[in-house]
Amino acid sequence: MSKSKRLVLILGDQLDLQSAALRDFHRDTDEVIMIESANEAQYVWSHKAKIALFLSAMRHFAQDLIELKYPLTYIKESTKPIVDVLRDELQRRNIKHLICVEPGEYRLKIAIEKLAQDCQIVEMREDNHFYCSHEEFRQWVANKKELRLEYFYRLMRKNHQILIDAQGNPEGGQWNFDQDNRKPYSKKGPGIIDEPMGFPLDAITQEVINYVEKTYSDHPGSLENFHWPVNRKQALKALDYFIEYRLRNFGIYQDAMWTQTPFGWHSLLSSALNLKLLNPREVVQAVLAAWKKYSLDLATVEGFIRQILGWREFVRGMYYLDMPQMAQDNYYSHTNSLPAWYWSGQTQMACMKDTIGQTLKYGYAHHIQRLMVTGNFALLAEVLPAAVSDWYLAIYVDAIEWVELPNTVGMALFANGGRFTSKPYIASGAYIKRMSNYCKDCQYKPDIRFGEEACPVTTLYWNFLIKHRDQFESSPRTRLMTANLKRISDEDQKEITRHAKHLLANLDAL
Ligand code: FAD
Ligand code: SF4
Repeated sequence: MSKSKRLVLILGDQLDLQSAALRDFHRDTDEVIMIESANEAQYVWSHKAKIALFLSAMRHFAQDLIELKYPLTYIKESTKPIVDVLRDELQRRNIKHLICVEPGEYRLKIAIEKLAQDCQIVEMREDNHFYCSHEEFRQWVANKKELRLEYFYRLMRKNHQILIDAQGNPEGGQWNFDQDNRKPYSKKGPGIIDEPMGFPLDAITQEVINYVEKTYSDHPGSLENFHWPVNRKQALKALDYFIEYRLRNFGIYQDAMWTQTPFGWHSLLSSALNLKLLNPREVVQAVLAAWKKYSLDLATVEGFIRQILGWREFVRGMYYLDMPQMAQDNYYSHTNSLPAWYWSGQTQMACMKDTIGQTLKYGYAHHIQRLMVTGNFALLAEVLPAAVSDWYLAIYVDAIEWVELPNTVGMALFANGGRFTSKPYIASGAYIKRMSNYCKDCQYKPDIRFGEEACPVTTLYWNFLIKHRDQFESSPRTRLMTANLKRISDEDQKEITRHAKHLLANLDAL
């Protein structure tokens, strides 16, 4: 064993005692370093709750390390970028070996790789948090004509023997029960939903919140409703609570939306997972155990596991495969600015107002709100993908680029031209009307295509189809989408185009 000092860097989203970085840690010779950097809070205009969550979780993790007698240097509130602080520390202390786990943001990965090149003492280890390694993902990609979640997910199910019966077939005879997981709430509303577990603020979180309120007072979002799990103990409690009280209805109402219902039956576990306070394996195992214990629907269990074992692993693989190109992708050459009301929620459109309103309040919206409300609108409004990505990265407490960017660029915006989706996820106001009660009190009418009362989502939807008709008709997967255009007269199509042009030139006024 070398007696020279090794420094182990733990980043803000690597808060796991089982991290590969700590694998062979020696308390007598090694030391952990953690760095709070203002740069991380500011390179996009982050929601206050996102900044507070990262800082509080880091400080709690530092406390755990100290209790476990890990030697630790914790650099608070630095105004320099992480890598600059690191470079100074390495020089000042004459460190001969720096160990870290690959960062979840390409930007930081490149910066640390550059540091490694310069000083030749950096050892970057692969992140063992995920089911699928980079190599395994690359092997899966090789020779594939189409990169689709469904086939990757089946491979993960087989490799990890999850929801596979004794004969080696998928449980219930189907790989995917997505069709059973798309119900709206009843016309009367969602009924009583058990609230997700919230956590009272302890001294560490309170101190962080005071600091964020003072230092980032001009940043978007509120801290008044900050109840996120900030350490492993709380994350495990949040998982247990979700499994016990909320999982049962997760599947069926996964896509449903309703006013005053910001969380539905969703798990709210993404931030704990992404900070690495929870491991995806323990989440999946807990769901499998609950399936038997509470005789849950297979559709719910499969639907939830697909998100973690399927989507979460898949988008991570795609991110590392396609960066840095993914951040530049702009298939439709869209150039509009993001409407200013994305940062304030001050819009007349009830669906956008509700989704953005709860986003500012909690730093949270569920998947369908992100994909089919804010994402759908940004695509139809022809907003520059990089501006949309910056918004998603800034505004959600769970946002880390490896998961945010592929969801935004690949799923919401089709900005990578269908690299891993078969068609753009676009919808008119009719979809939002079917899946929510948003349209009920909106000043617009979801079924009207043009004119003063027309729903902007609907106008822009038809405009999009008219504009890209040739592209949609060239593929059997999208041909159906333009079929309904044939039922709209040429005159009405001209009106839609005219009205859409007006909307697109005045997005801020909506
Ligand atoms: P649940 O609905 O309870 O799902 C359970 C878990 O499955 C989540 O906690 C999450 O870990 C995982 N999951 C579900 N859907 C996805 C998905 N599409 N991709 C990856 N993992 C998934 N998720 C993030 O974690 N961070 C992001 O920055 C992020 N940005 C997104 C941006 C857009 C435009 C879209 C459409 C989706 C984004 N997602 C992101 C995916 C998804 O919306 C969130 O994971 C989910 O809403 C988090 O809430 P939850 O924990 O209640 O999830
Ligand atoms: Fe949204 Fe259109 Fe419905 Fe209004 S009418 S809530 S803008 S979908």
